[in-house]
Amino acid sequence: MSVLSRPYFHDEAAAFEHVEMILWPHGPVCHHCGSMEQHYRLKGVRTKASKKNPHGVERHGLLKCSDCRKQFTVRMGTIFEETHLPLHKWLQAIHLMCSSKKGISAHQMHRVLECTYKTAWFLCHRIREAMRSDHSTPMGGNGKVVEADETYIGRLGGQPVRRGGGSHKNTVLTLVERGGEARSFHVESATVKKVMPIVRANIARETAMMTDEWGGYRYLGDEFASHETVVHSKDEYVRGNVHTNSVEGFYSIFKRGMKGVYQHCAEHHLHRYLAEFDFRYSNRIAMGIDDGVRAVKALAGVKGKRLTYRQPA
Ligand SMILES: [Zn+2]
Repeated sequence: MSVLSRPYFHDEAAAFEHVEMILWPHGPVCHHCGSMEQHYRLKGVRTKASKKNPHGVERHGLLKCSDCRKQFTVRMGTIFEETHLPLHKWLQAIHLMCSSKKGISAHQMHRVLECTYKTAWFLCHRIREAMRSDHSTPMGGNGKVVEADETYIGRLGGQPVRRGGGSHKNTVLTLVERGGEARSFHVESATVKKVMPIVRANIARETAMMTDEWGGYRYLGDEFASHETVVHSKDEYVRGNVHTNSVEGFYSIFKRGMKGVYQHCAEHHLHRYLAEFDFRYSNRIAMGIDDGVRAVKALAGVKGKRLTYRQPA
């Protein structure tokens, strides 16, 4: 037995059962009217006959609402609705992406899942969307430390390469709570004007802030409980508990993944890759979250991530 022998990776009915358990912990919810009444399970319903499937395909997980009388499945209103890929393959894809520390390329996904490259590419981006956090609660707080740092990655379109500078690259700002989550942002430039609004919007005022000596952070001490810096230009990296090792550790995994696995990343997709690395870091094994739990957490994020998702009236 291995993780991969779990039924929901192979059997479509088991896959539906698994996803329903996670998305509907209190029982089925009608996608159309939100009703949680006793809905009917429609068994043995098949899709229309086609050339490929002359007898149609069994429609798993189909329910009929006892209030509005419409049919629905747990796929509706989630990223799963956007392709015809069987649900058990989606679960394989989510597991692969959640358990690969540096990510998994769309090429590898395409080979493992035996789907087209185009489908694999699409899946990967949709799973990143499921992993994306809404950052609704502040990081840090009383007695907590948040480290902030910036890095440069890839190449901006139309910019000549300049040695030793970051001006031809994309700028990333990352906030890491020690022993907690990471939040990364693709910013236009490492300037006070671009960085500080994000810092203010994401970190609780009672937090102890730690950064390098970059001048953009010089007023942090006025807005947060404290602000201490290490002077990297003077080879100072750790002074007691003052350091930025957590955020640098995050960047080390992020850069190895972006160089080794993803290689090319369009500027307008960078925020999705950041969401993926943030997600795995924020749900890492050091926090007691193993591959299986991480996959369940990603699954819980598939709801409401569709652009066409119908908002409750
Ligand atoms: Zn209904």
